[in-house]
Amino acid sequence: MTRGPTKITIVGGGVAALETLIALRRLAEERVTLELITPQAQWSYRPLAVAEPFGLGEVKTYDLVQIARDHGAALHLAGLQSVNPAARTLTTWDGRELSYEVLVVAVGGQPVVAVPGSVTVKGPGYTSRFRTVLRDLDERRIRRVAFAVPAGASWPLPLYELALMTAAHIAARGLRKLELSLITPEQEPLQIFGRAAASAVRELLDERDIHFRGGRYASEARNGELVLVPGPNISADRVVSLPRLHGPSIPGLPHDPEGFIPTDLHGLVEGHADVYAAGDATTSPIKQGGVAAQQADAVAEAIAARVGAPVDPRPFRPVLRGLLLTGGSAQFMRAEVSGGEDHPSAASTQALWWPPSKIAAQWLAPYLAQRHDELERAPAGLAVEAEVPVPAPRRRTMIGRDANSDTALVRVEG
Ligand SMILES: Cc1cc2nc3c(=O)[nH]c(=O)nc-3n(C[C@H](O)[C@H](O)[C@H](O)COP(=O)(O)OP(=O)(O)OC[C@H]3O[C@@H](n4cnc5c(N)ncnc54)[C@H](O)[C@@H]3O)c2cc1C
Repeated sequence: MTRGPTKITIVGGGVAALETLIALRRLAEERVTLELITPQAQWSYRPLAVAEPFGLGEVKTYDLVQIARDHGAALHLAGLQSVNPAARTLTTWDGRELSYEVLVVAVGGQPVVAVPGSVTVKGPGYTSRFRTVLRDLDERRIRRVAFAVPAGASWPLPLYELALMTAAHIAARGLRKLELSLITPEQEPLQIFGRAAASAVRELLDERDIHFRGGRYASEARNGELVLVPGPNISADRVVSLPRLHGPSIPGLPHDPEGFIPTDLHGLVEGHADVYAAGDATTSPIKQGGVAAQQADAVAEAIAARVGAPVDPRPFRPVLRGLLLTGGSAQFMRAEVSGGEDHPSAASTQALWWPPSKIAAQWLAPYLAQRHDELERAPAGLAVEAEVPVPAPRRRTMIGRDANSDTALVRVEG
């Protein structure tokens, strides 16, 4: 008996979901039917949110109807409420029950304010608040601005970009006696990219007179001060920060104490045979679009192989690529991190990946470049690339199984 195509249900409409969709269509071809379940018909390309207040770029939105159509997928506008893996069904926010054969959960994280009292970069909506900070600097109503990387799950690079672009903005206007500082739990700037990137970024910060304070945790902005742990606090007329991410905590699926979904290196959700997850929603400690796309690739390859495509599925092995917008001329830099302290790295004026998009994604980036001309908007900046060791898995102990939902109950330690 020949079996028809396998129905793959992808939940989410961001980087991980779209990368999974495109990769699966290319790798598994007609062996799969694809459906995308997401609450909004548009996808906002977040990385350029930081450039918007300076007029150096704009947040672009893409039509998911068209992207789904281009890849022969059905699009359902709905939100995932819960999953019942035993029955292979999911429930949507409006109470509908839908069946799936193989499910991919790529719903991202939930951004929450990490430093109360700060101007928090929560995607496109923050632009007008940040423009007010720039105007207050221009009109000398404020003098000291602190950029604070929060503790916990977030992607720190946008804050470095904001600090650097603010410094360029100030210099271009000849404004003097203003103080910019960057506060972060990292010991070195953009530490995750390794030593060469850290020293290149530190040089940039020094050149632009941005005071780097590493190893400090920002807890709150109040009364003209940024409260730091360990202290002392610093004076700051305005504090700019990033949101911290919480996991989606989907009923029916296992999750760690912060709500993130544990998977193996092929993206299979722990304790389940037909549910995969990718991107910021998972326990992977690096919350970055490029990494989300690589997780999605591992998922797509694993699914393609299971439906009979000639694919040898590779496990997720993160390579970090970051294009740092500086507000100045373009410089590309490469740092390969294969573990240990001393990572080989190089600086170059050439792009380190192609197309040189802000979110480096094997399938999504070329699609956007071809279909939507995204390449022309690739901004100038400092590109950094690093192979990162697969993060040490946190110790998970199976402590039981919920008979109603066939969900593994997992205790996470470490
Ligand atoms: C200001 C800023 C700048 C950034 N710059 C970069 C950069 O330069 N390079 C880079 O690589 N990364 C960057 N990142 C990080 C990057 O945006 C994220 O890591 C990436 O978007 C994660 O992809 P994702 O698909 O996992 O989640 P998301 O992109 O957050 O997508 C989640 C999707 O799921 C949908 N969804 C949510 N809940 C549900 C539900 N219950 N049911 C169905 N659908 C749901 C959402 O509507 C959304 O479509 C930046 C982030 C920020 C905030």
